[in-house]
Amino acid sequence: MTEAAAHPPQKGEQPIKASELDPKFKYELQKMHGSEKILKCFQCGTCTSDCPVARYSDSYRPRTLIHMAQLGLRDRVLKSETLWLCAACFTCTDRCPQDVEVAAVIRVFRNLAAETGCIPQVFKDQAQSVLESGYAYKIPELRIKKRESQGLPPLPKGNVENMKKVLKGLKLFDNMKKPLTQGEQPSGQ
Ligand code: SF4
Ligand code: SF4
Repeated sequence: MTEAAAHPPQKGEQPIKASELDPKFKYELQKMHGSEKILKCFQCGTCTSDCPVARYSDSYRPRTLIHMAQLGLRDRVLKSETLWLCAACFTCTDRCPQDVEVAAVIRVFRNLAAETGCIPQVFKDQAQSVLESGYAYKIPELRIKKRESQGLPPLPKGNVENMKKVLKGLKLFDNMKKPLTQGEQPSGQ
C-alpha cells in the first residue's frame, strides 16, 4: 500500500498540489532572525506534545507548521489562522532537542503573514482600536457611565498621537487595510 493510500486526506484537509510548493521558502527562513535553524527540525513532535495551546486545540501544531515550511508550503503556513494561537510561552524552544527556536519561528511566520496582510480580523480590529482610542478594545459608553455612577475615577485617556508615531512604519499597521485573505487550513496536523 502506498503512503498516500495508507493516509488518505481527512475531512477538511486539502491534498497538496505540486504548484503550491516553493522550494526557496526554507532557505529564506534560514536567513531570518529566529528561524535560522528551521532545517534542523527532524519532526520528533516534542514541541507539539509540550505546547500548552496544542493541548487544548484540535488544529494548532507547531511541528506541523514547521514541517509545512520545510516542504515549501508558504501560503498554507502564512494563511493559517492557527499561527495566531501561539501564546509565545517558549516551552517548545526550551524543549526542542535540535535547538530549533520554535517560538521564534512562529513569530517569523506571523511577521511574514502580517507583511502580506494575512492577519485575522480580530487582530486587525484590535490594532485599529489601538490607533483610534489607545485601547485594544473600545470601552463602551455604558461602562464609562457606570464607572461615573459608582464614583470611580475616569479611565486614563490613551495618547493616540504618540501611539501612531510609535507604530508608524510597522507593517502590521501599514497592512491593516489590506483585505483579509485567510485561506486553507493546514492539513495533516
Ligand atoms: S521539538 Fe524541535 S525537532 Fe522536534 S518537531 Fe519540534 S522543532 Fe522539530
Ligand atoms: S511558544 Fe507557542 S508553540 Fe511554543 S509551546 Fe508556547 S504556545 Fe506552543
